[in-house]
Amino acid sequence: MTRRLGSYAWASPNTAIGLMLAAAVLLLGGQARRVAGVLEVGGGLVGTWLGPARIALPWRAITLGHVILGIDAPALEASRAHEHVHVRQYEQWGPLFLPAYAASSLWQLACGRRCYRDNWFERQAYDRS
Ligand SMILES: [Zn+2]
Repeated sequence: MTRRLGSYAWASPNTAIGLMLAAAVLLLGGQARRVAGVLEVGGGLVGTWLGPARIALPWRAITLGHVILGIDAPALEASRAHEHVHVRQYEQWGPLFLPAYAASSLWQLACGRRCYRDNWFERQAYDRS
């Protein structure tokens, strides 16, 4: 129990960012639900604006601490295993996760590789999901 609370506390700066974005999604008609200790938020106008018919994004959901933001409910469900690997990464890296993620992307670019798909954190999430 103490370890679990520590994981939430360590990831909380990133979760705070996720909660602010989640509030915006909810204000624009999105929906939220809790799955395995993680808040999943998606849909509404943001989902419509970012939907596959509008913008070709390389991802359908994004994780910030214990918050997962998705295009819509089917996208959240399809990406759940992958995004929960990122939740575990946030629990391990805490406030260092976003700088480490950015550094990994920049390193991959410097080496002539893809900044998203070859990012160490993404490779781990794809391998484990
Ligand atoms: Zn990912």
